[in-house]
Amino acid sequence: MSFNATVGASAPLYETLYGSTDMASLSWAEKQWVAWYIWVGNPVIATGLMSFLLHEVVYFGRCIPWIIVDSIPYFRKWKLQPAKIPTPGEQWECTKQVLLSHFTIELPTIWLFHPLAESLGMSTHHVPFPSWKVMAPQVFFFFFFEDFFHFLAHQALHTGLLYKHIHKIHHKYSAPFGLAAEYAHPAEVAILGTGTIAGPLLYCYFTQNLHILTVYIWITLRLFQAIDAHSGYDFPWSLQHILPFWSGADHHDFHHMAFTNNFSTSFRWWDRIFGTDEKYRQYRERVKAMKKKNVDKEEFAKLEQKLLEQVEREGIVAEREAETGVKAKSQ
Ligand SMILES: [Zn+2]
Ligand SMILES: [Zn+2]
Repeated sequence: MSFNATVGASAPLYETLYGSTDMASLSWAEKQWVAWYIWVGNPVIATGLMSFLLHEVVYFGRCIPWIIVDSIPYFRKWKLQPAKIPTPGEQWECTKQVLLSHFTIELPTIWLFHPLAESLGMSTHHVPFPSWKVMAPQVFFFFFFEDFFHFLAHQALHTGLLYKHIHKIHHKYSAPFGLAAEYAHPAEVAILGTGTIAGPLLYCYFTQNLHILTVYIWITLRLFQAIDAHSGYDFPWSLQHILPFWSGADHHDFHHMAFTNNFSTSFRWWDRIFGTDEKYRQYRERVKAMKKKNVDKEEFAKLEQKLLEQVEREGIVAEREAETGVKAKSQ
């Protein structure tokens, strides 16, 4: 249906939502936004449905390139744990679990998002959109807020009962892959998801200046960050080589392999300041020293594999300690 036909068919709703909006001044994208809200016919459903679809499309859309990369041996030279390539069976099992949680937990609750957002003063169906100059600092604030929140909450999840009953599920994969980003206990999704959602809600409450489109841009970037951090690949062109404070896959892959260190999501600074990246940095130093040895490719791969196995063995001990609260005897 065309824009005019959609609008014409729902005149009363159009009057309520957009009676005072100058349609002639809107961009193409803003007109599509109006058409969506009018076509769905109920703002609560329109926002909920759009939020759910955005999550599904971005999440699985971003995972597809990583599934392809995992199936092409050429890329193995950039795999952080080259001996551990996820099988199609593992990836399918993980996809089913993620879908189950999206449909049984997220879908029933997402309809609360619109009323909650509006009650805090967020713009939803409204047009025009804010300019990128308004959106960019807001998105940066959400990144900063989420990263620090995650840094603290993730460490709490590595203790005793919280680990044993909740976070252990996410640590099923010691060599993660893109799809495993949201493979987690529902309570973990709620706890860590708070870091993603609370930033915008608090910002909106205090400033009364936030459009839901900015939140969608933030969630899209956050999904890219989470999936890429779990991808298991560190390419020479990965973002962390351009922005040295960006965490990237190299940072989070170590967390899964060693079961310790690197608790934040997007940035490296908190782990650095609080010293929760010490083992990770020692490991990186050892890899660097191995590279300096000038051994041939095969020999290097053997040395690297030995080191990876050692880190993982230590990780298994660290996991047991976190779960039981009993410190293992040093060997
Ligand atoms: Zn963890
Ligand atoms: Zn993870």
